Amino acid sequence: MSGLHPRIVFTLPLLLLCFGVSAASRPDEPGTVRRYAIFGKGQEEVVLRDNRLRDAVFYIVGGHGGPDSGARGERDGTTLCEDEYAYDVGLRLARKLLEHDAKVYVIIRDPNDGIREDSLLLCDTDEEAWGGSAIPVGQLDRLKQRTNIVNRLSRHNRNIRYQRLIVLHVDSRQEGDRVDIFFYHHSSSAASRRTATILQETIEEKYRAHQPWRGYQGTVAARDGLFMLRSTHPRTVYIELGNIQNPLDQRRFISVDNRQALANWLTEGLLEDFRRSR
Ligand SMILES: [Zn+2]
Repeated sequence: MSGLHPRIVFTLPLLLLCFGVSAASRPDEPGTVRRYAIFGKGQEEVVLRDNRLRDAVFYIVGGHGGPDSGARGERDGTTLCEDEYAYDVGLRLARKLLEHDAKVYVIIRDPNDGIREDSLLLCDTDEEAWGGSAIPVGQLDRLKQRTNIVNRLSRHNRNIRYQRLIVLHVDSRQEGDRVDIFFYHHSSSAASRRTATILQETIEEKYRAHQPWRGYQGTVAARDGLFMLRSTHPRTVYIELGNIQNPLDQRRFISVDNRQALANWLTEGLLEDFRRSR
């Protein structure tokens, strides 16, 4: 794989460049359209914007899913299920990363929920794991299943240096607690901390630009008890999008525009993370 690394390719003599790189490894042109059914009607076609994330691999895990809805909140008499909002933001993030030519795996998948334009998302239980397997009922089995999938895929991609696992959740706290988007990493991984910090700084910058009066308190912290941080091989950042009980926090993921903004901002952070890794 290192032979395809652009920096190395450019140092090769022209002849080698002509014969050493097959047509298949040439990046697709911006404007190329690819189809991904997982994004649903009207969203399946992804137009390649640029190749900035070529040679980057992302694993996107929406928290919970299947028999486990995760935390539940309520708004206007409707039940809010954590897994649905984490999934929708995750899909939007995956789609943005693909626009920049990343390789993206959506690990928890709902075959009939694409990216949804409704503000309140129906709770369902038909999510499955990458490869089509059912999500187990027991919590530990559930976490082991997604961890094994990610670790297996990451071994398969071992020649690709830049790999990131993004895990998305919505927190549940007292109704009165507001909480900004915040980030966890494992304490043994200074590298994960760096990625989490880039994401946190990007969000901070975005809020400063779009809502300068607001202030942003989102933190980066180590949390070693979380299975998904302890047992996964790629560099992992665990993101909490807000408190599902708090009416003001709810707007962050109830609003379609806000869900998209979160995905866009996280994409910008990951573009920066990738740029710095080069
Ligand atoms: Zn959760």
